[in-house]
Amino acid sequence: DTLEYTDVAIIGGGPSGAAAAAWLARHGLAVRVLERQHFPRFSIGESLLPQCMAHLETCGLLEAAQAGHFQPKNGAAFCWKGQYAAIDFREKLTPGPGTTWQIERADFDQRLLDGARDAGADVEHGVSVIGFTPDPHRPQLTMRDDAGKTRQLEARFVLDASGYGRVLARLTGLDCPSSLATRGALFTHVEGLFGDADHDRNKILIGVHPEQKDIWYWLIPFPDGRASVGVVADIDTLDAAGDNDTARYWALINAEPRFNELLTGVTPVRDVTRLAGYSANIKRLHGPGFAVLGNAGEFLDPVFSSGITIALDSAVRAAPLVTRQLDGEDVDWDGDFEIPLREGIATFRAFIDAWYDGRLPRIIFHEHQTPRIRDMLSAILAGYAWDKNNPFVTASQRRLDSLAEACTQEAAVSP
Ligand code: FAD
Repeated sequence: DTLEYTDVAIIGGGPSGAAAAAWLARHGLAVRVLERQHFPRFSIGESLLPQCMAHLETCGLLEAAQAGHFQPKNGAAFCWKGQYAAIDFREKLTPGPGTTWQIERADFDQRLLDGARDAGADVEHGVSVIGFTPDPHRPQLTMRDDAGKTRQLEARFVLDASGYGRVLARLTGLDCPSSLATRGALFTHVEGLFGDADHDRNKILIGVHPEQKDIWYWLIPFPDGRASVGVVADIDTLDAAGDNDTARYWALINAEPRFNELLTGVTPVRDVTRLAGYSANIKRLHGPGFAVLGNAGEFLDPVFSSGITIALDSAVRAAPLVTRQLDGEDVDWDGDFEIPLREGIATFRAFIDAWYDGRLPRIIFHEHQTPRIRDMLSAILAGYAWDKNNPFVTASQRRLDSLAEACTQEAAVSP
């Protein structure tokens, strides 16, 4: 085996890896990104939150992404049994961008990684990381290329951005199960979706099954009548919906009247794909000579499109700490990385719990929200889940409980 050297080795070239690579390379470090796949490649996770735009700017990747001319997104809309509710991200408590994009990941991820390369990072494709030797100053990775040849890379710091690969969680034994229920998604891309006058293409549409409220749907429009459409349910419900995944998918989609209506006449352009058991956790997000970013750490649930926001947030938090550590400073990875990152994740977690136990749908479909409350909720759904000026960040559970209770009581007394 030959031994190679770099300052920072990054496992995985998805959004979190590319963002960290771009930031670090711009700040003068030698960066090596090791990406198992050849880009462009499909990935799920196609709806950004406005908070992402601030993070892309911080890493110097906003322009590279803008060149993709992606479908603009300004909010989230919800439908259930003929009811419709829309949240406009431009009206929100927290300052910052109020619009973002729906993105096809093959293109988006390629653009971010090319942006990282332009910033000076060295990017290798077709290289899997298969081994790790932790060390506070000289951690080492074992990599295997497509031809089966292995090499060793010694770095001064390692960032794990391997997403569902969860490389360091597995290799260090830090992997641990999520406390969220195991759910699965069936999805595809369609073309020919031109909607109708009432379909707001600038919002993600989230539908709820008319009877089984824990089944939900996404419709993410792309330009030119293309769209990503998926359904999420617990695994038993998915399995019971038909004989194979394609039949199950269309049976579930057609059970929701608005989705059925909008998707009449569209043509699927990919096979229906199943992803299940994606929620995962990790005991610690850092250790001697390494830190873990994005989905390689904790992944919750897709309902509020928070995955890439958390991935980019972790990257912009970790990157400056890496430079400080390599400059010889003592870095408090707990206090300056893990604890604050997990605070925002906990906000999303509270909203996800409230979605599945029915409190959040009650709040969303309640017609008379005060503007102030609406702006607080909008800020979180726009990704500003770390803003301590928002009571739904600092006291998520209590606030969601009392608001859901108030909505129930008002609904009971209204005619
Ligand atoms: P990834 O994007 O997964 O990138 C990791 C990279 O690491 C990959 O390119 C992979 O090839 C590489 N890799 C893996 N193992 C190795 C290895 N051993 N060696 C080298 N390279 C390796 N998020 C949103 O923000 N919006 C959404 O609308 C949304 N919808 C979702 C729907 C579903 C059904 C699911 C399951 C998730 C959804 N997500 C969504 C989440 C989103 O997919 C992830 O949060 C996001 O991709 C995380 O980015 P990342 O950079 O951490 O990892």
